[in-house]
Amino acid sequence: MPFERDLVQTLFVVSSSNDEVQVHFPCPQCGHRILKLVVGPPETKETRDSFMQHDEECFALEDVTRRFSFLFECTDCREPVAVCGVTATWTVPTYGDDGEEDGGEEQEEYFYPQFILPAPQLFAVPGNCPKEVKKELNRVFSLFWCDIHAAANAIRSTLEILLDSLKVPRKGKTKKNELRPLKLHGRIERFSAKHPVLGKQLLAVKWLGNPGSHGGKEQLTKDDLFDAFEILSHTLDEIYTAKQKKIETITKEIIRRKGPRKKPGGDVPF
Ligand SMILES: [Zn+2]
Repeated sequence: MPFERDLVQTLFVVSSSNDEVQVHFPCPQCGHRILKLVVGPPETKETRDSFMQHDEECFALEDVTRRFSFLFECTDCREPVAVCGVTATWTVPTYGDDGEEDGGEEQEEYFYPQFILPAPQLFAVPGNCPKEVKKELNRVFSLFWCDIHAAANAIRSTLEILLDSLKVPRKGKTKKNELRPLKLHGRIERFSAKHPVLGKQLLAVKWLGNPGSHGGKEQLTKDDLFDAFEILSHTLDEIYTAKQKKIETITKEIIRRKGPRKKPGGDVPF
């Protein structure tokens, strides 16, 4: 399974009106794509800050924030998956029997996870990818929900480990013939000499990981990490299994900007 941006964006945005919540996340244990809520409805409790606003004049239901905890179970292998995070209440249109908006409104509570144990893979890593690379990617998938800068930092270290496995040296000789550690950029350039297309993709992923490691003027968003996932998933497939399109456009733009690209729709809603 390549990285499916649209699917990951909506995976855990589930309505509270349904006690039989199922999410189509790949099971971290067996890869089966249906996790079912063990008991419903989910446990939620309003945060103190949210509760303290109730007496304010402009208070509205949309201002309520709750914390939640879920326990899901894989419908195939029975692996338990614990999820916790925050909720938000949104006013949404109601629909008639014909499936069209009927002019009414209702409030629905949505769930935004900030921690998932064990964390599911957000894209399929090729089976023959070295275990050290897989291990670091699992760290990225776990950090993604709670700390995107830490996740971006882990993406950079994934690249270092990937280059290790591809036998790209960590040290190089200077003009004075001294052996010095190579920066990630220099290692990717060395790799690019033999693999220019793949090298460009790794360079784009590196630019996306930079704000996670060095800070920077641009604020990193989950959508930027999605760019990194989309490229990296494709690159790993190219390296370890087979064969490219939208990736080339994204890659080009990030390299031109030397950082995250402009998104037409803004960040993802969680
Ligand atoms: Zn399973």
